Amino acid sequence: MPELTLETISNLAKKRGFVFQSSEIYGGLRSAYDYGPLGVELLRNVKDQWWRSMVRERDDVVGIDSAIIQARKVWQASGHEQVFTDPMVECRNCNARHRTDKLADPDKCPTCGKTGEFTEPRDFNLMLRTHMGPVEADENMVYLRPETAQGIFINFENVRRTNRLRLPFGIAQIGKAFRNEITPGQFVFRTREFEQMEMEFFCRPEESAEWFDFWKKARFDWYTDLGMTAENLRLRDHESDELSHYSSGTADVEYLFPWGWDELEGVANRTDFDLRQHAEHSGEDLTYFDQEADERFFPHVIEPAAGATRTTFAFLIDAYSEDTVNDETRTVLKLDHRLAPYKIAVLPLSKKAELIEPTQKIAAELRKRWMIEVDVTQSIGRRYRRQDEIGTPYCVTVDFDSLEDNAVTVRDRDTMEQERVGMDSLVGFMTEKLF
Ligand code: ATP
Repeated sequence: MPELTLETISNLAKKRGFVFQSSEIYGGLRSAYDYGPLGVELLRNVKDQWWRSMVRERDDVVGIDSAIIQARKVWQASGHEQVFTDPMVECRNCNARHRTDKLADPDKCPTCGKTGEFTEPRDFNLMLRTHMGPVEADENMVYLRPETAQGIFINFENVRRTNRLRLPFGIAQIGKAFRNEITPGQFVFRTREFEQMEMEFFCRPEESAEWFDFWKKARFDWYTDLGMTAENLRLRDHESDELSHYSSGTADVEYLFPWGWDELEGVANRTDFDLRQHAEHSGEDLTYFDQEADERFFPHVIEPAAGATRTTFAFLIDAYSEDTVNDETRTVLKLDHRLAPYKIAVLPLSKKAELIEPTQKIAAELRKRWMIEVDVTQSIGRRYRRQDEIGTPYCVTVDFDSLEDNAVTVRDRDTMEQERVGMDSLVGFMTEKLF
């Protein structure tokens, strides 16, 4: 297969209705994207799989959904107002702005190619602001959250108390985050509005190293379990000068994107930094009392923080493949069936009413369990190709024989093998495939 380019994958995403530019009819915003009918299913499936493995399948993690707008004091306490910055330079020749730490050559402008034209780097705060209420005054200024994590820390005591939680335990959240990135780009990889999937795992300080290792492995395995190619994934420990202001250790799960290795998720040891800061700034007691040990202390925190939109993009890239069938190139999204937007496409061989009726009946039955598409237009071969291209694992074809033998043909996306299955046993057959 030829090398996959960013263009190929973004074209497919746009053409098939996974992702559209935000405000496209007005020329588009480069910083934000809209998810179309297929993209919203894929994104939702990624988030569901994360929630399943991080919350539902664990007896020590609960979920919350906190507000996007929080008191400004939250971001003063967390340190974001002071230090959530990226170093920025401006090119005196073309006025383009760049993030210094992402420049291949620190003296050369990647936009106009001139060297030696950069201004001195300055720290640029990444938080987006707005005003609450009718008056646009400084005291009404609030930030849109740049991470979901702080919504968890400020609810630590609410959640612990109401759910009678004992260490170790985690609080998870999925939701939108906003960062005024200096250079958004690489399609949905870096945007100014995006979605995160974060979990704060609270534990005794002396157990934090062990939990750090546990979560690094668990998070790496989550991607491979959902079919991401292991060779395209790696865990990379941060150098000490790379660490965020709150972290005593961080490892990134990185993916080999078409432009090289880049971050999918950060697993950080946040120590007791956040709880201590919020306790100090709010005056609330955010310590934990361990009855058995008769001890009061600030728990330490291990945080796996992933991007939902970025991860969805990586799954899309990883699933892209091309093969040759009857001298024609076939594009296939080899998505794990748990992530595929449609699980089954039901395709009548012709538009004749005698086939449409059983098609609708079968689709109605399958729809009770899975996301289904019925497609009646174009030749059957073209319809298979379209389903391959959007990653549908199975096609069920209703033909004229079906009227006689009460059976349908089930086609597998990856092997293209076809099997005749009785209509009465179709749901059971598909349940086994789509466990
Ligand atoms: P980067 O170095 O790429 O800017 P970061 O290290 O600042 O990212 P974190 O603060 O660790 O990112 O955020 C956790 C996760 O949230 C990231 O691993 C990424 O998947 C996602 N994320 C962060 N910023 C963005 C963004 N601008 N667009 C899309 N996803 C993002």
